[in-house]
Amino acid sequence: MLDMLVSGGTIVSPRGRVRADLGVKNGRVVSVGEDLGEAREHVDAAGLHVLPGLIDVHVHFRDPGMTAKEDFGSGSTAAAVGGVTTVFDMPNTDPPVSTAERWRAKYEVVAPKARVDFGLYGVVTQDNGAELTAMADEGAMGFKLFMGQTTGDNPCPDDGVIFAAFRTAATLGLTIGAHAENNAVLQLLKRELRAAGRTDPRAHLESRPAFIEAEAVSRAATLAAAAGNHLHIHHLSTREGLQRVVQARALGTRISCEALIGHLLLDDAAYESQGNLVQLNPPIRPAEHVQALWEGIAARTIDCIATDHAPHTGEEQACTDVWSAVGGFIGVETLLPLLLTQVAAGRLELEQLVQLTSAGPAAIYGASPQKGSLDLGADADFVLVDTQRTAVISGQQLHSAHPVTPYEGWQATGMPVATYLRGQCVARDGVPVGDPRGRLVKPRRVHRATA
Ligand SMILES: [Zn+2]
Repeated sequence: MLDMLVSGGTIVSPRGRVRADLGVKNGRVVSVGEDLGEAREHVDAAGLHVLPGLIDVHVHFRDPGMTAKEDFGSGSTAAAVGGVTTVFDMPNTDPPVSTAERWRAKYEVVAPKARVDFGLYGVVTQDNGAELTAMADEGAMGFKLFMGQTTGDNPCPDDGVIFAAFRTAATLGLTIGAHAENNAVLQLLKRELRAAGRTDPRAHLESRPAFIEAEAVSRAATLAAAAGNHLHIHHLSTREGLQRVVQARALGTRISCEALIGHLLLDDAAYESQGNLVQLNPPIRPAEHVQALWEGIAARTIDCIATDHAPHTGEEQACTDVWSAVGGFIGVETLLPLLLTQVAAGRLELEQLVQLTSAGPAAIYGASPQKGSLDLGADADFVLVDTQRTAVISGQQLHSAHPVTPYEGWQATGMPVATYLRGQCVARDGVPVGDPRGRLVKPRRVHRATA
């Protein structure tokens, strides 16, 4: 007998959509089709779409050490309600996750609070080369490389350290995700803009022009090609950066890239309308770059969409001096409604949405076949979606600790109705269900093919 039968829905995968029932046993998908037999629990999905739960490879739940901004409880509640069943959390917490001991300590703190499954990255620093293997042995999802300065002010490693980390990652079969910005040049431009007396929100954009990203992507890709590791470019934001990714791929480099929902939906007009709330690293760009990212999605040169969910306190976000303002804003709970709205507008196919938010992210970090699909044997992580339901996005209804969103008042068409994690409901109609039951996701290590 099945544990659960999800009946009457339309199951969506990157390959297409099919009207079929879904059978769940022991938290996994065991059958897809018609007349699947008896089940202990019935879920009526008539009129709804059944999507694999979303995987957000880029969240900052700020736990431990920065829990005035968010913690793993509030962050993962926002994820569950928003249809995101797996998150990969960034290592620039306090202390930064630079050793196996700190990785383990973070795991112990966050695991009991997690409402969704989670992976934890380690960070590459100037002097932690010896710890990378130990973090991998603990279960690190991969490693984050900060080439440009951002929250936490973790110093950027030099190119020799970067290359050594890439070689280690190749040996371990793990992915390195890069924040690709040339730090020395952006610091120079910041000093010049400050000296010129600029304090307005747009100065942030001017301190980080497109070539800063393109240069860092080129450099990282060149080193990765030699080292043989999988290089993932986080929050790719420019036409020039995307060109460098496409070039590197054509040369045989193992490279993937991610676009942020913020970079896809906001352009530089937001500096005037929203001020420092939309400060982000890399910055919200002029419309020509937004256009280039959508072209990259259409051309399938962009591999996944993430949020860079980056909460801060209300006090921090009210800062009016651009040089003291904080980077990033929340987004994990609004990702799916905003993307479904793009589907309703005809800008994105539902199958593409699944590819970019489930199958793609799982493949990049080696979380498939357990995560990212509803194929037989996969974890029964799914979200029931009503593509017709409309809502107005309001911070008051979001579950982050400080729910200030640049999408306040935006109309959404398409909403998650209920979210299931390994065959159990974790959220329904905008509220969390049950106790936290999220588990660690470990990567399946993908090694370089040896000659
Ligand atoms: Zn980030």
